[in-house]
Amino acid sequence: MRPVCFCACLLASIALSMPAAQPAPSASDVTVILDIKGPYSQTALKEMQREATQIIQTSGVRLDWTRKEDVSHAVFNDLVVMSFKGSCTFDPAPPLYDELGPYAVTRTANGEVQPFGEVDCDRVVSSVRGAMFGGDFAHGEMLIGRALGRVVAHELVHMLTKSGIHAHEGVQRASLSGKQLIAQSLPLSAMDVDRLAAERRTARTANRP
Ligand SMILES: [Zn+2]
Repeated sequence: MRPVCFCACLLASIALSMPAAQPAPSASDVTVILDIKGPYSQTALKEMQREATQIIQTSGVRLDWTRKEDVSHAVFNDLVVMSFKGSCTFDPAPPLYDELGPYAVTRTANGEVQPFGEVDCDRVVSSVRGAMFGGDFAHGEMLIGRALGRVVAHELVHMLTKSGIHAHEGVQRASLSGKQLIAQSLPLSAMDVDRLAAERRTARTANRP
């Protein structure tokens, strides 16, 4: 199977209302706000968060997760918004794609990737289903969650480093196959661990009173 172009940047002016990011006593470095527009599986959602948290935390960055519906009075150190369109479940099967679009998109303004991303669940699920075989089908929702977690981790690296740079290995490669999305492990490259760690050191210094 042909590897799929991973993500695309949308040049857009940002006009979304977001909660103000303020210094807070939260134990996490970054809160990911989930805006899920279509049907989803709880199993896949939980696994997605677990997988993305595990990938990103190797750089020392701690993630926290919340739903968009729950953020009205919350206070965060730093936040990103991750939207999901399509159906984020193993069943029913998504429509077959003739054209291979990206798994996700981020927004770019003034040359910097902004903290807004959108995952195309139908696209991810379609790719994962095509890569599954044998016993994989007994763990469909878990594998969908794993794949979504890797897509989210990939976009988080773009957003947290404000950069569209890709790596030659690991989860930050420019293209990944469905097989790579559900393989046993897909960590950050050493380069990406360093980039994220450096970015967070800068952010923590800036937030210090
Ligand atoms: Zn990318």
